[in-house]
Amino acid sequence: MKSAILLKGLFKTDEYANGNSNEHISKDINKDVNININDIANANAKGFIDLHTHSTFSDGTLTPTQLVKKAKEKGLAAIALTDHDTVDGLEEAIEAGKKYGVEVICGIEFSVKSDTEMHLLGLDFSLDCPEIKRVLSDMIKNREERNFKVIEKLSEIGIKITHDDIIRESTSKVTGRSQIAKAMVKKGYVKSINEAFERYLSIGRPAFVTRKTLSAEKAIEIIKKSGGKSSLAHLNQIGKTNDELYEILLRLKQCGLDAVEGYYTEYTDEMNAFCRKAAADLGLAFSGGSDFHGDNKINHELGTGAGNLKIPYSVLEKLRKKII
Ligand SMILES: [Zn+2]
Ligand SMILES: [Zn+2]
Repeated sequence: MKSAILLKGLFKTDEYANGNSNEHISKDINKDVNININDIANANAKGFIDLHTHSTFSDGTLTPTQLVKKAKEKGLAAIALTDHDTVDGLEEAIEAGKKYGVEVICGIEFSVKSDTEMHLLGLDFSLDCPEIKRVLSDMIKNREERNFKVIEKLSEIGIKITHDDIIRESTSKVTGRSQIAKAMVKKGYVKSINEAFERYLSIGRPAFVTRKTLSAEKAIEIIKKSGGKSSLAHLNQIGKTNDELYEILLRLKQCGLDAVEGYYTEYTDEMNAFCRKAAADLGLAFSGGSDFHGDNKINHELGTGAGNLKIPYSVLEKLRKKII
């Protein structure tokens, strides 16, 4: 049987090195969390990981191969490629992983239905499972239909963008408002992508069209069927109070949620403490990652985020066993 030792003040180790003032976190949570001292030693031996990254197959600027090469240069033991609503970059990433000696975990980041913005990560699933591919091809169809509706609305107000224009802006099968915005910049209708959204494409603007989104429950079910683990991403970006977040986690746990993204560069000490308390209460594991997008997102460097992120390999091992 595992001997768990309550380690007061040991949160300054790599195991809990996410956050600027870890002493403060330890005061809040060391009464609730037992850490096995052997796990910390093992984690350091096996190196560090990043379970939240993006490539050119969604809105990142590095190809999957360049991303894996960078992970190797940074000395990471494993990364998960978690592009938005697509698994198309995974095969290339896995191949590159073999070449560079980096473990590549299959990942995806689903945008799920919410009155705010909610993202759900699928991690460590099997690419052979037909379920995830079927759902993704339905989503591509929905996006296509939406693109045509947006093009139509733009045309009604004198902005002539064609389907070919937006395909040209896309690096993968996923085309949406970002590519429409880029095409609008290229054709001189707006000066920037931001302006395209603010004047035309965002909610309440003349070319806004709602998109059918997956429910979180359905996304959890698909990830489970594919043999993976689900994790609620970047809780700080959901735009809810801690009490509301707790309710969301409770509801999703009842639907089979496995984990919460407990390591994220933007988290405050308070959010770190909340994640650990909620995970301990609800029996959720952790995932963690930088949300690296290449040049498209500053302060989200691969592996290290804004410099305060260090995720030991043991996080992946525990996620696989669904323990904290
Ligand atoms: Zn996200
Ligand atoms: Zn992301």
